[in-house]
Amino acid sequence: MQAQIKLGRIFGIEIGLHYSWLIVALLITLSLSGHFKSTNPQWSDSVVWFSALVTAFLFFVTIVIHELSHSLVARMHGLTVRSITLFALGGVSQIERDSPNARTEFWIGIAGPLASAVIGSMCLGVALSLAWRPAATPTDPATAVLVWLGYINLLLAGFNMIPGFPLDGGRVLRSILWWITGVRSRATRLAAQVGEFVSYVFIVIGLMRFFSGAGLGGLWISFIGWFLLDASRASQAQAGVAEALKGLVVGDVMSRDYVTVDGRSNIQTFADEHLLRSGRRCFIVMENGKVTGLITPHEVRHIPHSQWPYKTLDVVMRPLDQLRTVAIDTPVMKALEIKGREDVNQLPVIVNGALEGIISRSHILQLLQTKAELDR
Ligand SMILES: [Zn+2]
Repeated sequence: MQAQIKLGRIFGIEIGLHYSWLIVALLITLSLSGHFKSTNPQWSDSVVWFSALVTAFLFFVTIVIHELSHSLVARMHGLTVRSITLFALGGVSQIERDSPNARTEFWIGIAGPLASAVIGSMCLGVALSLAWRPAATPTDPATAVLVWLGYINLLLAGFNMIPGFPLDGGRVLRSILWWITGVRSRATRLAAQVGEFVSYVFIVIGLMRFFSGAGLGGLWISFIGWFLLDASRASQAQAGVAEALKGLVVGDVMSRDYVTVDGRSNIQTFADEHLLRSGRRCFIVMENGKVTGLITPHEVRHIPHSQWPYKTLDVVMRPLDQLRTVAIDTPVMKALEIKGREDVNQLPVIVNGALEGIISRSHILQLLQTKAELDR
């Protein structure tokens, strides 16, 4: 989930919005104004709209606090948190790595719902001190805002504790299974399977409500279920990959058969003789018998065709010193992680400063495919 609108940083963590959030913010403000108008017809229009806007804004703040509590606990355990993005269905924290152990996973997962439960209880507590009584309709704007925020945050805490991965409750379940079985990928798979089941329940309930006349609210529940289904399947696939690649190191799967090109030749020659002929995507650039960088279609793509005869490879390549490299004994899972983080498809394998081979994403995929075919 990429943020399209950046709001700034809190504790060094970037907070951003995905466009889909704006639509939901608008829907929430509209439905809140409708709610306030019907519960308090004596309020003037400006009071209704002002209360709705303030409530929607504070709701947004409480979701950020929910995500921040996941992030800060992750950081306390030494994990790097890049950003928090709010989108139509809530927030996501981009945490750089997976938890190193079950205990960390447990605390990261439960921190958010705990924060929401505390915020919800505090809002209702303050409302009570302002003479509001449970089940009564709050009549002044301040109490009305507090009561709505109180209930919605308790609801959020409850919803997030549903034990289907990747919901928070699913993370907690996964951490407990991880603790019991001692195997992370198996725990992830089980928790994600529960997540898949929960998703189907959501989709069915949503559709039933929709067809019994609940309108868009029903479809909304189905939509959440569909989104969850997608996420839990992705988690299962990821766990499967982790299981299949367990114990393998870069040296086992890397390719030693790579093609080198001269850094002083121009792009036109390179394209004619290699790129558009061999079907390979990654080439090693050498100069004076030394590896200086790596070149793929990605680097060539941005150069206008007219300049191809005049630009040499050493100008457009990815220089070796700017490339992430891996050692021969790096676990394959770790190499995949680095590829994802750096957004590259190939990593050079360096031994004692010299190039030993290349490990590419397509290589790993082929290996996985073969393993799946042979059921090994
Ligand atoms: Zn959460």
